[in-house]
Amino acid sequence: MADKDNSNTTGVSSLSGHFEKYQGDRYVEGWADLWNKGDNLPWDKGASNPALEETLVYGDKVLGSPIEQEGEQRRRKKALVPGCGRGYDVLLLASFGYDAYGLEVSEAALEACKQEEAKSGEKYPVRNQEVGRGKVTWVQGDFFKDDWLEKLGLERNSFHLIYDYTFFCALNPSLRPKWALRHTQLLAPAPWGNLITVEFPTHKDPLEGGPPFASPPKAYLEHLSYPGEDIPYDSKGSIRSDPLREPSDKGLERIAHFQPMQTHEWGKDEKGEIRDRVSLWRRRD
Ligand code: SAH
Repeated sequence: MADKDNSNTTGVSSLSGHFEKYQGDRYVEGWADLWNKGDNLPWDKGASNPALEETLVYGDKVLGSPIEQEGEQRRRKKALVPGCGRGYDVLLLASFGYDAYGLEVSEAALEACKQEEAKSGEKYPVRNQEVGRGKVTWVQGDFFKDDWLEKLGLERNSFHLIYDYTFFCALNPSLRPKWALRHTQLLAPAPWGNLITVEFPTHKDPLEGGPPFASPPKAYLEHLSYPGEDIPYDSKGSIRSDPLREPSDKGLERIAHFQPMQTHEWGKDEKGEIRDRVSLWRRRD
């Protein structure tokens, strides 16, 4: 549902008023509160992201098969969706054959995921009969902590695919260095581990605040090139980068960057032009 009172010049509703009450580490309570109330979930599109579907279809050569074959052993690759909301994209990834994990800090969101899975399983037909459908697992936890990995019995760096959509922009920009570092702790080594970012909102004025916070492609590029480092932003909230700086060995490499042919409506401008961008990233180490 659109949050009309908080709508801004980009037409993207903002939850910044709500989050004034939840400063610093309390922001996770702010998300839980929104889900518990359930009447102000402006990010919830009711469907998986067409930009992810397109990337999985056309990017199959780069991403490889969702099945890992080692001799006789056949194992499904693991895909993670941090901050999965109602879980549509998790269901989509499973229909492509990944064992898909939906991570949410909010228990109420996970309840909504389970209901969505029960109600809409049919909407996500198996893509490839030989590959089949992967298993769906919903897990409660904070992206930045390890306890949910322990609950799942997984080591760090177990995920072959991580998908970020409206998670980067949901976080206060002060968390971006930690967000980037965390991906290096969760993603499997190259070439098996791929991070897909669907970048939104790319053209919002950073001074408008958020969530969703302005997230131009450059922000993903700088933070993922130098995980854990403070990246300088100017007084207008734009990144100030040194174009000649060597990328960090610890960082992720952007192996593809493109404008998708389809995306959710709120990733388009008033003329219908697609403003979202998709990037694929791999570890360099
Ligand atoms: N990607 C989803 C939801 C976007 S809203 C979609 O497109 O619909 C951002 C989500 O991230 C919220 O559901 C919120 O509860 C969750 N979230 C915020 N911080 C989190 C954290 N630290 N760990 C896990 N989930 C988090």
